Amino acid sequence: MTVKVLNISEDILGANKQRAEENRQRLGKHDIFSIDLLASPGAGKTSLILQTINSLKDEFRLAVIEGDIASKIDALKIEHHGIPVVQINTGGGCHLDANMIHMALDNLSLEKVDVLIIENVGNLVCTADFKLGEDKKVLILSVPEGDDKPHKYPLIFSQVEAVLVNKIDVLPHFDFDLSDFSKTVYELNPDVSIIPVSCKTGEGIELWVKWLKDQIKTSES
Ligand code: MG
Ligand code: ZN
Repeated sequence: MTVKVLNISEDILGANKQRAEENRQRLGKHDIFSIDLLASPGAGKTSLILQTINSLKDEFRLAVIEGDIASKIDALKIEHHGIPVVQINTGGGCHLDANMIHMALDNLSLEKVDVLIIENVGNLVCTADFKLGEDKKVLILSVPEGDDKPHKYPLIFSQVEAVLVNKIDVLPHFDFDLSDFSKTVYELNPDVSIIPVSCKTGEGIELWVKWLKDQIKTSES
């Protein structure tokens, strides 16, 4: 008896890539710069988005897509700031895919958006595999998670353009070696930008905003 093996993951990733390319072109047509924000649950994705909204809202028209397994808690926080937001509930799915983003884009007035922030589902594993059509992938790693994460989740650290180290206000209370961490990340991804921030105190946020504005400017030219 022969066993038939279906290589689902390759097919899924292939179809996703095509859909992501459609999204990318659609966003490009509207001159929208987009980031896909990746992190573990609780690393501070929504807090960073709120800080970013504060810093950019006078200069750019923003929109947010919130990805969560369930609930609209994060979307309500964004909406509270008057920013257009679409909540995707994956119903158990551990990552966003390009199809979900396609549907979310149908629910935004794209002609009124300059910068789109996508908050992915909290997960350091498969979120790295799925292109959504974004310009840049950005990872947030928070101090309490530990400086060993690049060793344990090398793929995601190698796939992103910036790594934000959040919650640096609690550095004194944790054995988190920032220079050791940075060294490991640069080994995986020599071109990455590492930006230490605290969404709580606001420390480092101006560096993040500068990085983001530089990317937006580069994408326009
Ligand atoms: Mg969140
Ligand atoms: Zn997943």
